[in-house]
Amino acid sequence: MSINNYSCISCNTSDASFFYKSPYMPQRSSLIRIDMINEPLPYTSYQYVICNNCFLVQSIENNPPSILESENCYFSHVSRTIIERDKLLSKDIIKRKKVNQQTRIIELGGSDGTFLENFTALTQHIINIEPSNDSCELCQKKKIKSLNCFFSKKVAIEILNSFGKADIIVIKQVLETIIDLNDFLEGVSMLLKKDGLLLIEVPYVIDLIERNFYDFMAHIRKSHFSFTSLKKALLKKNLSVSEVYHYHDLEGGLRVYAGHSQSNNQCPLVGNLLKSEAKWGIDNYTNYSSALKKGILLHSELMNLIFNYKKSHSKIVGYGAGVKAGILLNYCGIDNRFLDFVVDKNSFKHGKFIPGVNLEVLPLNRLYDGVNVILLLAWIYKDEIINDLMPLIEEGIHIVVPAPEVTVIKK
Ligand SMILES: [Zn+2]
Repeated sequence: MSINNYSCISCNTSDASFFYKSPYMPQRSSLIRIDMINEPLPYTSYQYVICNNCFLVQSIENNPPSILESENCYFSHVSRTIIERDKLLSKDIIKRKKVNQQTRIIELGGSDGTFLENFTALTQHIINIEPSNDSCELCQKKKIKSLNCFFSKKVAIEILNSFGKADIIVIKQVLETIIDLNDFLEGVSMLLKKDGLLLIEVPYVIDLIERNFYDFMAHIRKSHFSFTSLKKALLKKNLSVSEVYHYHDLEGGLRVYAGHSQSNNQCPLVGNLLKSEAKWGIDNYTNYSSALKKGILLHSELMNLIFNYKKSHSKIVGYGAGVKAGILLNYCGIDNRFLDFVVDKNSFKHGKFIPGVNLEVLPLNRLYDGVNVILLLAWIYKDEIINDLMPLIEEGIHIVVPAPEVTVIKK
């Protein structure tokens, strides 16, 4: 089916199948200041299609890259889970590439440098390309060279002239937000040495629609990759995949190792994952729409639970004011009629509001103000947060985990 004014961001074909239209939600995803809460916000509905040629799932609107706005207040260092995870991942890379003083490393969208910090004792040839002003500034304070811009082929040429080609390029949870995918990947291909290592992590489309329904709605994401569609996008730029892993921590996703040279030791998981995706039916739009129906059931279950708590006069607050918290709250219509406020560890967010639902973000100590129920909006950090909240659970507070299943954690 041909869709008006649409061409795939990976393979440029206009042949696609439509399978989902989201409800109207605020176009802005970063937090707003108090003087902005009465200003009208633009609302948008997002339409999702699957390309019938490369099978990349994508929204057909060209959204502003709001996750990368300077006000996003997203810092990797506030999560212990991310710090530990980054340490393990960097150890693996150091071993694979035998990182030494000559090794050149580039991270695209490396936030505040939490991942790159793990390499600074070994090499000084490190660059972070980070469009968010606040994150970039924090990274620079760590003495890691950080360029405050969006990565593109043009930026790649500038880096080639000033820094040279990279031995290692890391792109974690960024590729799915890129609108001009071909330009971005062309820049990556140009910058990577012939024997260089490219590490990519992306959320996995099958996990997103089957388990992490609310994250699928995150309109900060332009694409939703299967391994099949990611492999095709990379191959177009002469980047071939040698290894792939389907990881299950955080929100789950795909970790791919790739490079210029066609590896003879391709990991068996590459072929296995392609086969299992074909079996699931990643080429058939009806599979996506039927999997999404499970998510819609999840939404009504959550709403009923919150409604019943409110009816019994419970004081309910949210935990975690990330971009995806705004998506979940707006999608479910959970606003200041249900929740009193949202708490977050990150002091940069305090005193700001979640757009659309106008819930204020306050420090964690406000959890001791007679709260009965906590809606765990940052549910991907469930283990870390539940551990921190154990004393409150012992005192009788209920924790509602909204996904992948609606569950209540209580004494
Ligand atoms: Zn395509």
